[in-house]
Amino acid sequence: MTKRGNGGTAEGGSRHPPPFRRSAVPPSPLHELPVEFVGSFPDPLVRLEPALPEVAFIGRSNVGKSTLLNALVGRPGLARVSGTPGKTTLLNAFRLPAFYLVDLPGYGFARAGKAARAGYRKLVTRYLGERPTLAGVVWLLDVRHDPSKDDLEVQRLLVESGRPVLAALTKADKLTRTAALVRARDLAAALGLHEDQVQLTSSKSRQGIGELGLSILATVGGHA
Ligand code: GDP
Repeated sequence: MTKRGNGGTAEGGSRHPPPFRRSAVPPSPLHELPVEFVGSFPDPLVRLEPALPEVAFIGRSNVGKSTLLNALVGRPGLARVSGTPGKTTLLNAFRLPAFYLVDLPGYGFARAGKAARAGYRKLVTRYLGERPTLAGVVWLLDVRHDPSKDDLEVQRLLVESGRPVLAALTKADKLTRTAALVRARDLAAALGLHEDQVQLTSSKSRQGIGELGLSILATVGGHA
């Protein structure tokens, strides 16, 4: 709306053109759903009751997984942000209410020893390979970084599992729009993914959060 009644020009119009309304970033469709923390589990084959389709989140620690989960469901404190000591080998499950989101432990801790790495590989291999309710995996990668050795190991496990994968490229706000698009194309090529399997996201600017929510709904059956 523009102010009326003052500042007319010679033509009788307003001095200021009306503002160009910028569309708000669409909110995540998951914001409208009630969400409940179900629990933390060490067993990758834990049975969640009731049995419902689930979407898993996997990524290197510090990639922005907790922040993205919180942005997706619109509850700032739901997933704990970063590396809670002693919780790094547990799956965290959230129910919303016709499907689950499962937060897998972050990988690639610099300090992780051989045994911890082998334990992680076993957990993820069993989870991806044997979980009957798993509908798809959101794989988080920092848009600015080339895939690490650990990322490539996870890529191998994802390919072997044959599960549907969507790569969420995080922290897109740290690059210009053009640079982020170039990175998305390059990362898709480097990871053997189709361009439509890659979603630029930012929990800060909210870019791509709504789209990611829609993809999750489609993967679990298109309904909540
Ligand atoms: P996690 O270890 O994968 O769960 O990562 P966190 O969610 O704890 O995030 C790690 C760090 O990245 C924190 O300092 C966050 O504030 C920051 N971060 C997360 N998402 C974004 C984002 O979209 N943009 C920016 N600029 N920083 C982010």
